[in-house]
Amino acid sequence: MLKTVRNTDKELYEIIKEELARQRTGIEMIASENFVPAEILELQGSILTNKTAEGSPGKRYHAGCGVIDKSEILGIERAKKCFGAGHANIQPNGGSSANECVYTAVLKPGDTVLAMDLAMGGHLSHGHKINFSGRTYKFIHYGSKKDTETIDYDQVERLAKEHRPKLIVAGASSYPRFIDYERFSEIAKSVDAYFLVDMAHVAGLVAGGVHPNPVPHADFVTATTTKTLKGARGGFILCKKEYADKIDKAVFPGVQGGPILQTMAAKAFTFKIAMSDEFKEYAKQVIANAKTLANELENRGFRIVSGGTDNHIVLVDVRSKGLTGAELDQALEYAGITVNKNMIPFDPSSPMVTSGVRIGTAAMTSRGMKEAEMVEIAKLIGMVAQNIDNKAVLDDVKERAVAMSKKFPLYKDYIEE
Ligand SMILES: *Cc1c(COP(=O)(O)O)cnc(C)c1O
Repeated sequence: MLKTVRNTDKELYEIIKEELARQRTGIEMIASENFVPAEILELQGSILTNKTAEGSPGKRYHAGCGVIDKSEILGIERAKKCFGAGHANIQPNGGSSANECVYTAVLKPGDTVLAMDLAMGGHLSHGHKINFSGRTYKFIHYGSKKDTETIDYDQVERLAKEHRPKLIVAGASSYPRFIDYERFSEIAKSVDAYFLVDMAHVAGLVAGGVHPNPVPHADFVTATTTKTLKGARGGFILCKKEYADKIDKAVFPGVQGGPILQTMAAKAFTFKIAMSDEFKEYAKQVIANAKTLANELENRGFRIVSGGTDNHIVLVDVRSKGLTGAELDQALEYAGITVNKNMIPFDPSSPMVTSGVRIGTAAMTSRGMKEAEMVEIAKLIGMVAQNIDNKAVLDDVKERAVAMSKKFPLYKDYIEE
C-alpha cells in the first residue's frame, strides 16, 4: 500500500509509517478502538470514492448510480440479516451522526428526551450541553445507583413519568454491564415515548451473539461499525420497517449530503464477516479477555466499577492506588499501553482528571491475544500503578509491552520496512 503516496508526499508517508510502527508495537486497550481487517483498508481506498450518490438506492439525485446501488443494497441486506432488523440505513458517517438522524426523524427542536448522563457513562450526543444534541433538544439525564454502580431503572421510570419525554435513549460509552432493554422498552411504552438504543460500543458483541440484541425491543437502534464490530469508521441505523421512510429522509436530505460510498462498501464487508463463525469466536474471546482482565486487576488491588464486566469494557477506580485517571493514563502511555482516563459514577474529579480509567479488550483480541496475555497486561498495569514515578520500571514495562505486541503482528505487508 501507499506506493504512490510514497513518491508524491513524503511527509504524509512518513507520518503513516510512524503511526503503523506505533500500532505494531503498542498494547492498545482503548475501548473504542480496534484493528480492522486488511479488506477494510482496501475497500476504503477504492474507486467508489469517485461517485456522488445523494439519496437512497433506486431513488438517487444523480445519474450513473446503478452499479453503486448494488453495493449499498448488499450492505443494507447484510445489516438487516446480521441484527434481525426490519430496515437498515448504512449511510450515517458516524455514531453521533446516526443519533442526529434519529433525533431529526422523530423530534422537533425543544422536545424532551431522556438519556444517560455523560458523567455516568453516556455519550456527548446524548444531550451534553456543548453538543448539538443538548443545544437543540431538552435532555433530562438518568444515571447509576451508588451501591451497585448499575443503571437506576427506578429513576429512569420516575423521570419518564415526570417529564413525559418524546424519546428515551439507552446505550453508553463507558458502561461495563448489560443493559435491560426490556425494562427500558416497557418504561418507554408506559409514557408513549419512542425508544432508541445506541449500541455503538457493543454492536460487535451483539452480532457475535454474546450480548443481548436490542433490535426486538427498540424502535430505533444506532451503532458504529468502528468499535467492537472492527470495521470502517462509520455509523448505521436499524429500525422497524414502519419507520424506514422517516429514517431515510432524516439521513438525506435531513442531516447528511452524499454518502461515503467506499466506506459503505467497507460496512457491507463488516456485516458479512460479523455473521461468520470466526467472528463469534472473536466476540466470545473479547468477553473472556475482559473478565480475566477485571479479575486480575482486582487481585492486584484495583477496585473494579460495578464489581466486574459483561462486555469488552473494564472500568477501573484508580483511587484505590492513590492515583487519578489522568496520572495512570499518562504513565501507561509512556509504558506503551494505551487506555483512557474516564469518569466513574459519582466521580468527585473533573473530566480532565477523573478517578478512573476505561480499558477495553476488543483491539488486542483482534490481534489474537487470549487470557494468558490479559494476565500479563494486568501485571504490567499493576507495575505502572505502583511505580508511577520510577522511570526505570516504566522503561522495563515498555520493553515488555513492545515484545508482547510484536508477537501478534499487524498488517504484515502494508509497508515494507
Ligand atoms: C462512540 C460512540 C458514539 C459516537 O460515534 P462516532 O462514530 O465517534 O460519532 C455514539 N454513541 C456512543 C454510545 C458511543 O460510544
